[in-house]
Amino acid sequence: MDIVIIGGGYTGLSCAYHLARDHGIAATVVEANCAGWGCSGRNGGSVRPSIGKLPYRRVIDKWGLETARRIFGEAQKALLTTRDIIARSPLDCELIDGGVLKVAHRPNRLPALESEARLLREAYGFEAELLDADAVRTRFLDGAEVHGGLRYPDGFGVHPLKLAYAVLALCREAGARVHTASPVTVWEKENGRHVLTTPEGRLRARAVVLATNGYTPESLHPCVSKRLLPVLSHIIVTRPLTTEEVAACNYLTKIPVIDTRNINQYHRLLPDRRLLFGSRGAATDSPTARASQREFLLDRLRAKFPPLSAVNADFDWNGWVCLTLDWIPHIHHAEDDASVHYALGYGGGGVAFSLQAGQHLAARLVNQAADEPLIPTTTSPLPRFPLAAFRRLGQRAAIAWLQMKDNA
Ligand SMILES: Cc1cc2nc3c(=O)[nH]c(=O)nc-3n(C[C@H](O)[C@H](O)[C@H](O)COP(=O)(O)OP(=O)(O)OC[C@H]3O[C@@H](n4cnc5c(N)ncnc54)[C@H](O)[C@@H]3O)c2cc1C
Repeated sequence: MDIVIIGGGYTGLSCAYHLARDHGIAATVVEANCAGWGCSGRNGGSVRPSIGKLPYRRVIDKWGLETARRIFGEAQKALLTTRDIIARSPLDCELIDGGVLKVAHRPNRLPALESEARLLREAYGFEAELLDADAVRTRFLDGAEVHGGLRYPDGFGVHPLKLAYAVLALCREAGARVHTASPVTVWEKENGRHVLTTPEGRLRARAVVLATNGYTPESLHPCVSKRLLPVLSHIIVTRPLTTEEVAACNYLTKIPVIDTRNINQYHRLLPDRRLLFGSRGAATDSPTARASQREFLLDRLRAKFPPLSAVNADFDWNGWVCLTLDWIPHIHHAEDDASVHYALGYGGGGVAFSLQAGQHLAARLVNQAADEPLIPTTTSPLPRFPLAAFRRLGQRAAIAWLQMKDNA
């Protein structure tokens, strides 16, 4: 057994797929639950060019224009990688083309969209479509929080779990092994080789990849300990809307929609006319906190779409997205052991980039990382949280602060 990948979401499956397809290496994926069980099977399915949580302007301020351009280029490449995987897969991933629409949730947010459009054009040569309130209301959707918008034309929507199964199918077809219901509980090193224990057996490996993102157990490996902040994200899905309800919201589009909040709220009209609506989750995963978060999201949905005031949620679920101290994902290796690799920390926007990260990991494992773009995501290891024990307190304070800004 040569390479073992821990975690069977987009990152781990993509890594195994690219190792097999591009380098002829049949790696083994061990997944604690089933393939796509983590964020990969339960996300909002909204895909647009972004890496991590930093706004485009902050990326330029922090790393300069040259690096920012490389980061943006990599985010766009991730979209192509995702499209390529979908095109090769035997499964229909329900791709919805037409872009992703960001809607100004208050009139005073439109100037920020205008300057974002300008920045995208001038800094990256990327043409996002700026729309006034009327254009959004007549071409896409109407509601109480529609004051203009910005459409990222290369974005798209996708069925998240079908996408995970698509990568799984490609993985297996290419020769990789995927073992589900196989949590790694003990990780040791014997005579220079890794020995991973699962309830059913032990695996030996020359190299190990950590692809566990927001579900990483704190004790799994020192290289990720105290370096991750898992945060809950929550989704509700309504019953199928009636033709009259859809018409009352003039909800003409199927493309993913997000708003301009720092803690953004997003929605999509699904093929069966249910409305998917999501935002951040509760601070903890208790049944009470989850129930109240579900009610909060329902309130938010009704506030955005007054004609839906009688609509309830048929389904809801949450999942742990993964933040890092510097708000960008990291594809790197343990500082004291170059045979332990990881790609984690995509925030709430990792659908495309986790698939791309899997491809980079595969190249790293065969020493072909020289072709990687020189961006902070690939050149720097995961930073450690100072006062890591107080990460949750910091999170609560940050949420309160961002919510205050969102309501201004
Ligand atoms: C509610 C929600 C909405 C989201 N919406 C969007 C969106 O619209 N657009 C977007 O771009 N991104 C979105 N995301 C984020 C996106 O889904 C993730 O960034 C991406 O799926 C990360 O994939 P991953 O493979 O790295 O991690 P995951 O899919 O979380 O996979 C990690 C896997 O590791 C496994 N694991 C953990 N520990 C062990 C162990 N010890 N042994 C074996 N296996 C283990 C877990 O079981 C899990 O399956 C959303 C996330 C959530 C939760």
